[in-house]
Amino acid sequence: MKVPELYGIDVFNDETMKDLLPSDVYKELKKTIEAGEPLDIDLANVVAHAMKDWAVGKGATHFTHWFQPMTGFTAEKHDSFIDPQAGGKVIMRFSGKELVKGEPDASSFPSGGLRATFEARGYTAWDPTSYAFIKDNTLCIPTAFTSYSGEALDKKTPLLRSMEAVSRQALRILKIFGNDAGVHTVRTTVGAEQEYFLIDRELFKKRPDLVYTGRTLFGASAPKGQEMDDHYFGAIKPGVKKFMSDLDDALWRLAVPAKTEHNEVAPSQHELAPIFETTNLATDHNQLTMELMKKIAQKNGLECLLQEKPFDGINGSGKHNNWSLSTDTGVNLLEPGSTPSQNAQFLLFLTATIKAVDEYQDLIRLAAASAGNDHRLGANEAPPAIVSMYLGDELTEILEAICTDTQYHERSKSRIDLGVTVLPPLRQDTTDRNRTSTFAFTGNKFELRSLGSAASLSGPNVVLNTAIAQELEVFADRLEKADNMLDEEKKIIKETMEKHGRIIFNGNGYSDEWVEEAKKRGLLNLKTTVDAVPYYTAEKNVKLFTKYGIYNESEINARADIKLESYWKNINIEALTMTAMVREGYTGALIDCMKDLSAILARKKQIGLPVENSMEYPRLKKISEGAEKMEIAVNDLSDALGQCDTGKDSYTVALYYKDEILPRMDSLRKVVDGLEQIVPKKYWPYPSYGDLLYSVT
Ligand code: ADP
Ligand code: MG
Repeated sequence: MKVPELYGIDVFNDETMKDLLPSDVYKELKKTIEAGEPLDIDLANVVAHAMKDWAVGKGATHFTHWFQPMTGFTAEKHDSFIDPQAGGKVIMRFSGKELVKGEPDASSFPSGGLRATFEARGYTAWDPTSYAFIKDNTLCIPTAFTSYSGEALDKKTPLLRSMEAVSRQALRILKIFGNDAGVHTVRTTVGAEQEYFLIDRELFKKRPDLVYTGRTLFGASAPKGQEMDDHYFGAIKPGVKKFMSDLDDALWRLAVPAKTEHNEVAPSQHELAPIFETTNLATDHNQLTMELMKKIAQKNGLECLLQEKPFDGINGSGKHNNWSLSTDTGVNLLEPGSTPSQNAQFLLFLTATIKAVDEYQDLIRLAAASAGNDHRLGANEAPPAIVSMYLGDELTEILEAICTDTQYHERSKSRIDLGVTVLPPLRQDTTDRNRTSTFAFTGNKFELRSLGSAASLSGPNVVLNTAIAQELEVFADRLEKADNMLDEEKKIIKETMEKHGRIIFNGNGYSDEWVEEAKKRGLLNLKTTVDAVPYYTAEKNVKLFTKYGIYNESEINARADIKLESYWKNINIEALTMTAMVREGYTGALIDCMKDLSAILARKKQIGLPVENSMEYPRLKKISEGAEKMEIAVNDLSDALGQCDTGKDSYTVALYYKDEILPRMDSLRKVVDGLEQIVPKKYWPYPSYGDLLYSVT
């Protein structure tokens, strides 16, 4: 099948609805969707019936409400369409009620205590702005998941709320600048570049650490890493190419706009970038992408690793959240325009973003915080844990010129006098890109670069949308009241640059000097998840979220709690996996190796050969000493695990894991990795880094 025919073939999209629904029903449905109103039950019945016929025609036997609980994964519970009839037969049935509302028994999802305080049950409700689709013979209905009293129990509900908040305020700005003709909503758009590793599945299965935790907890570096820069954008191997084209097909069937595929920096590392979409769709689609990557890898005898730092010593994987604002008439609001009023408006959105990123740098940091991503941030492969913004010299100079009332004529000779002359067309020169910044302006959008590869896009975009909504609201209030709007805008820009310009940094974000400089500027440097989480519930942040109805206070507490719980539980699994690998693998391997070496040495002695300078003696000595250290380190780790009272509050437990468990894991790893370099490979129980990283052909 040709791509245009394949594209969206498994999606109950607008075109299909138009085709299959009576035209009055279609119009009514569109109206309800656009107004964001709940679906009338009669209407829902007709839609459900058509949806079911369509799905059954494509081989579907089941349906599910597809949702995104606070684990950050997706959840589904399949119900078949069968409806028993008299005479022992069944028909396939799907009602409007089943379409719009589901009641999964979801009591096992983390709720961060929300369910203790509120109604235990939750329900899922169709998000009709994200189309239903078929996956594995199941009709999937994208839904939001909330408690009966309305608390968000998922990642989608707050995202939808934040999109509404930013739309409302952005519309006010458009109106102020007279650019609102025909505009009904302002959407945030997201294109998420997704990095991942592909390794051989048979080798993967032999590594308990990869199986249980998604990352290697042991492993000496291979002789070759990424130092030759020969993998980045390199020719794609046939096995990988096959995976990528299978993945494209599967994604295109679901109308996920997969666009760019290439090799990344580390060996066996790759990236997929889709074309950007409205944020809730991009978020749904990124979840599907991650799921399909795993599945299709397995079908191809491969394993896809989405963990943020699968291998020590080479780059981990990130997810770049390219973000912008755009009207439903298709105007990108972060694109410098061609008229004075568009440019003044662009500068206002830019200024709002600067203020938002500075004031809510803690929340932006938090959005990227997880046990896995802690291994990347600040590790010379990802932006530091310090949040900063890159605007490029040109924009920075423009803003500075406005602040100092000087003329800007450096690059383009045109004068920047707000609203009077036109902004110079900004160059979108890719060589000018800064790849070390947390939040980089890239010509017509911002790229949030700190997210880990496994993250849900929801969290960071909730923060961005809500924070920007807040700044836009304050600016709109001022501009609406101002006698001279452009003078007021100048004032806003000046004030913002004075107070928040510190967040702008155009230099090398990976350098040590920046850490020093950022400290002088008073920027936060929250090195770990545990350092960052307390900021969640800072007064200003609670105020922000509650003001826009994104979260109430208990929802925020719940989310902070879940982050901490997930942090220490992840580390706990890693630590237990390490002790198991020592017990089940390394101990026996060392014993075998030492036994053989001792036997040779004993025999040599017997027949009168000198042993002191033999190959075996010093090696046995080193291995024996290493084995002793390993035994001490693993017992120390086990003891520390045993001493933790996990019944305490999650902050205390998480802090304990950060301060007491992680360093012990590091010590244990160091000893074992050292041993790997002196023990002959035939004894070594697990595939090496070399095996894993160069396994795919
Ligand atoms: P890079 O050099 O980082 O690969 P690209 O121009 O290829 O930059 O874009 C990367 C991502 O940014 C793609 O997913 C693309 O669809 C997305 N993108 C482009 N424009 C926008 C926009 N206006 N809003 C959100 N994302 C966008
Ligand atoms: Mg990028």
